[in-house]
Amino acid sequence: MLKRFWERYQEWYINYSGFSNRREQEGLPYFRDKLFVSILLLTSVLGVISYIPSGILAVLNDELIVLYADTIALLVLLFIAFSRRMSMELRKNLFSVNIFILSVMLLIQLGLVGNGVTLLFMLNIIITLYNGSKAGFKAIFINAVFYILLLFGVYYEVALFSAFFQYQFGVLTVILINCILFNLLIVFAVAFLINHLHRALLKENNLQLALVEKHAAVLKEKERAELSDKLKTAFLANMSHEIRTPMYGILGCAEFLRAYNTDDNEYLDYVNVIEENGKSLLDVVSDIIEISKIDAGITTPVVTSFDINETINEIYNSLRPKAIEKGITFLNDNNLVVKNAIIKSDKGKLTAILKHLLKNAIKYTEKGGRVSLKCISYDNDFLEFYVEDTGIGIPKNYFKIIFDPFYQVDIQNRRALHGSGIGLAIAKSYAEILGGELSLESREGIGSTFWFAIKTNLTLD
Ligand code: ADP
Repeated sequence: MLKRFWERYQEWYINYSGFSNRREQEGLPYFRDKLFVSILLLTSVLGVISYIPSGILAVLNDELIVLYADTIALLVLLFIAFSRRMSMELRKNLFSVNIFILSVMLLIQLGLVGNGVTLLFMLNIIITLYNGSKAGFKAIFINAVFYILLLFGVYYEVALFSAFFQYQFGVLTVILINCILFNLLIVFAVAFLINHLHRALLKENNLQLALVEKHAAVLKEKERAELSDKLKTAFLANMSHEIRTPMYGILGCAEFLRAYNTDDNEYLDYVNVIEENGKSLLDVVSDIIEISKIDAGITTPVVTSFDINETINEIYNSLRPKAIEKGITFLNDNNLVVKNAIIKSDKGKLTAILKHLLKNAIKYTEKGGRVSLKCISYDNDFLEFYVEDTGIGIPKNYFKIIFDPFYQVDIQNRRALHGSGIGLAIAKSYAEILGGELSLESREGIGSTFWFAIKTNLTLD
């Protein structure tokens, strides 16, 4: 309750005195002034509270000068605290002078038994806190000058200092010198601590500034990347349309041309060349667009329900002519006995994976070799696919790297076998999208097996 009252009072005062307009970024001067505001507030409250008993005591002991000193000091203190026009600098100076005069008066009046010495001692420390070490040492110097005057006064028995006549001059000198020395020590320690704290604060501020700058740069970079991603997506969508559409036009015309004159074999061969090359170009363009979409992270599954047996047969039948043409035994080793095997997955992506793997298997297997497509269901939630060949195989140190886009094992042989080096990268990403992982086992000169699993009930996250 007391804490809440104090916090509210402090809040009110900070607003009242206009201190709320100040900012922490000002550094040490801000914290010094804030500390001074707290000291001022606390001293005003404590001053009012202690005024009553000390006033009563002064009256009872017939020390009216003490009562006057207390009253003047308290009034000046309240004036400093509640006058709105005063600058912080003036407030601090008046406060210091006010407490100094009060201390000196108490000291003269009450001698060492009063609060004068303690007040002077404290004043030098708090001046160091709210005004810096220079002001602190200056205050000690003034304090020392006063003590010297006091010692002179005592030595020459000036009536003003009669409260000190009871002490031996030597003892009094040692006490006052000790007071100054200890005060110097403490002011030095406080100044040292503040300096180090200030340096640490500056360092932290600089770090914070650097961090803010870095954060802003990262945000900017992120925005730029997002914008570039958007542009990339738009570009891909446009390119996909711009390249595919004329290609479909060319292929459509080739089909017309085939129907136009069926007797001329040479003419039909030319049409075949247009069609085959057109289809290859379309495949390459589609693959490049696809890998760019995967790279941009904009590839998502298109889930439908379809018959897996039917899909496997479609894929098998579309590639059988190629295998036959090359003199390769091509087996459809589908072990799914269920007739109507409906699964929920992305048919297009599954077809693309299997076609890429089978095309490779046929491409990298010599005449007389064997390629097989196997499908196994080892539990209700997954289907596993195996594409096996007895081809040239892949060296073990290439097992990982061939899944990277554009990577080919035998770069020298590239022209002979064609290929863009992105089929496996697409297959791998698609396998992951369908809930599995594309793996490979291979031995050079013996053959390769690629396998992956897909979820039979794919749901979109
Ligand atoms: P490419 O269009 O070159 O076939 P892929 O990404 O499909 O690109 O394959 C990358 C490389 O992996 C191929 O260039 C080839 O060296 C190797 N590779 C892929 N499949 C096989 C396979 N069944 N047998 C031997 N090597 C293969």
